[in-house]
Amino acid sequence: MSKKIFIDGREITFEGNKTVLQIARENGIYIPSLCYHPKLGPASKCRVCVVEVEGMRGLQTACSLMPADGMKVQTDTPRVIEARKMVVNLLLSNGNHNCISCEANGDCELQEAAYKHGIEVPAFLVERSEKRDDSAAFIMRDPNKCIQCGRCIEGCNSMVVNEVLDFGYRGGHTTVVCDKNSPMGESTCVQCGECVQLCPVGALVEKKGMGKARSWETKKVRTTCPYCGVGCQQELHVKGDEIIRIKGVDGAQPNQGHLCVKGRYGYDFIYSKERLTSPLIKDADGKFREAGWDEALDLVANKFKQILQESGPDAIAGVSCARSINEDSYNMQKLFRSVIGTNNIDHCART
Ligand code: SF4
Ligand code: SF4
Ligand code: SF4
Repeated sequence: MSKKIFIDGREITFEGNKTVLQIARENGIYIPSLCYHPKLGPASKCRVCVVEVEGMRGLQTACSLMPADGMKVQTDTPRVIEARKMVVNLLLSNGNHNCISCEANGDCELQEAAYKHGIEVPAFLVERSEKRDDSAAFIMRDPNKCIQCGRCIEGCNSMVVNEVLDFGYRGGHTTVVCDKNSPMGESTCVQCGECVQLCPVGALVEKKGMGKARSWETKKVRTTCPYCGVGCQQELHVKGDEIIRIKGVDGAQPNQGHLCVKGRYGYDFIYSKERLTSPLIKDADGKFREAGWDEALDLVANKFKQILQESGPDAIAGVSCARSINEDSYNMQKLFRSVIGTNNIDHCART
């Protein structure tokens, strides 16, 4: 059954269980959010998404507010803007936010909220100089830019269930820690990068792309990960001919934005000069030479025929590759069972 909501006087019809923030975004109405991420759901921590609702006393967090039929919401009253500006100011003040040299510049939700609310410099000054954690292979952590939204923690614990991250210490010293406060490189972190993708600011950064390109300089190219048969959807950030970083495509099947360490960071092989570009056949002298596909496939077919004649079908075995799609693996077992005549067929992912 459809319901109605009025946002800034605009009548919007919606269906299903949606929050005010979701409805506003679907209809192009700007409400900032920092701790909320569509993949994680409402957290109601940062309070930057507050709105005013007719008949309700205090300001309400749009990320968690389920609208009643006919609800009247205002997103830009002086009271709302003042409250939001205070949140953004406090977050900017409690950190070292020098956007000029930050990797997240141009792709930062805090910077965007500050820009939209006309905040050029933080209203308060709080000293903060924590050490950057450079110990991990692919991820650099800068606690001075962390706004303690908790998205990385939720992602690590509830989405990828690696359970590495948590908040440590208390009050003004609260910070994100790995395990029992180990450097990330010495922790149980598997470098899947889920936390980096969820971080709204420059507190978690992929090392491989550091200093190589600003976010607006890269072309975004949608593709399928070449590593295995799952077919995860990726967005390549490319400058010239170089991949700067890879992100999972949020909301797309089958991976819904998640990637493993290989899919996210293991792309250097595409530049390797040692990549095979044509089949190689080993000659009688034991040396490989380049060959065409027809010659290589004829050679394999003739060898199969020869083994079949000399030793029978059970002298041949096949192992299908986990990089192949299901249909190719199906075809391979069909070839072995129906054409060659053996059940000696297996899959590398089973070993
Ligand atoms: S994290 Fe965002 S707000 Fe902070 S310095 Fe980087 S770009 Fe600026
Ligand atoms: S990289 Fe993955 S395992 Fe490591 S802290 Fe981030 S989400 Fe957890
Ligand atoms: S590191 Fe990033 S995602 Fe994690 S709490 Fe800090 S700002 Fe949020």
